[in-house]
Amino acid sequence: MLIDYLYNLFLAAPMPIKKVLYAIANKYFALTNTYETPGFIIFFVTNRCNADCEHCFYRAGRQQICELISLGNIKKMAVSLVNKNKLLITGGEPFTRPDIYEIAEAFFSQGKTKKLQIATNGFFTDRIIDFCTRAQKKNWPLTIQISLDYLGAEHDSFRRLPGIFDRAINTISKIQDLKKEYPKLRLAVLATLTKDNVGKIEEVKKYLADKTGANLGFAIVRDPRFGIHNVPPDMREELTELAQKHILPEQKELEKVIFSEHKKVRRLQDDLSDLCKKIEMNIVFKGEKSNIKCLAGKRDCVIYPNGDVSACEITKPFANLADFDFNLHELWQSEKAELTRKRIQCCYCNHPCHLSSAMQAQAETLRLLANL
Ligand code: SF4
Ligand code: SF4
Repeated sequence: MLIDYLYNLFLAAPMPIKKVLYAIANKYFALTNTYETPGFIIFFVTNRCNADCEHCFYRAGRQQICELISLGNIKKMAVSLVNKNKLLITGGEPFTRPDIYEIAEAFFSQGKTKKLQIATNGFFTDRIIDFCTRAQKKNWPLTIQISLDYLGAEHDSFRRLPGIFDRAINTISKIQDLKKEYPKLRLAVLATLTKDNVGKIEEVKKYLADKTGANLGFAIVRDPRFGIHNVPPDMREELTELAQKHILPEQKELEKVIFSEHKKVRRLQDDLSDLCKKIEMNIVFKGEKSNIKCLAGKRDCVIYPNGDVSACEITKPFANLADFDFNLHELWQSEKAELTRKRIQCCYCNHPCHLSSAMQAQAETLRLLANL
């Protein structure tokens, strides 16, 4: 791919040239890092889920019934977007919403949303394939992210949903077939690594590759006791007690599984993913702050199914869209948002979504990749 070719040229360039490119990138990001509305939106479209995973970090109220933000109000919100953005739709299980296609369409029709990723447990094969097919006919840049943590019955019991392993594998196979017709469609299969599955994950990876040809990526289980620093106590969202039952693997165990072998021709995506994991581990195991500055509250925002909005998944919501007639622009420019931004200037954490979002918008990433 062109981007990997350019990246390898950059890595091979003499140090003075790398430094000039770094300085140009620094200027570019200084000019472009202004956000009237968020550039990365994590949207929990529902709190309903057909699975019941113990490690689910979703707020304690995930099983409680709340009125879900309506399609009409989602359309209002999408109209108010000013900045180009990447949208991550998650939940609960997004494909429990019958209007999931219309939700995505509400964003794309405004022309500001440039990329869409949907995180799913992969259970509802037909709905997912139908969505992918319709999305590809519209040429939407789409990544479907499917969770896979164990083989067979163990995955079913981890997700506490019988049959989910077979359903997820079937969905993955069908997306792989669809990719032949629509090469722009992307699939990310992701295992959440815990002390319990880290030693078994190579088996899962091999099974997945043999059965479907897909690759397995990794996320480190989130543990509220590690990796979150300097968040004002009254702002911090509590994770469920059940989530705390799942234990972090040791650093060595994680390193053995996670880091990709470097080939002669390096892929930017692999290096970014490795760098993100290294930073995460330094925060979790050593409490070490990185030079990548979190952009939650500026670039990143989180929207919950009842319209609550927070700067990130770690901090509590500071406003509700209904109070701004579902105008996200007004909410993002409000005093409440400004106060939140001020109060989270000194915290740091290992949240991978916010970390990788920040990495994409800072020249510091280039400096770290090239050891400048
Ligand atoms: S599938 Fe996802 S949203 Fe549903 S319970 Fe599991 S972790 Fe939570
Ligand atoms: S570092 Fe960023 S994502 Fe983490 S708690 Fe602070 S503002 Fe939220």
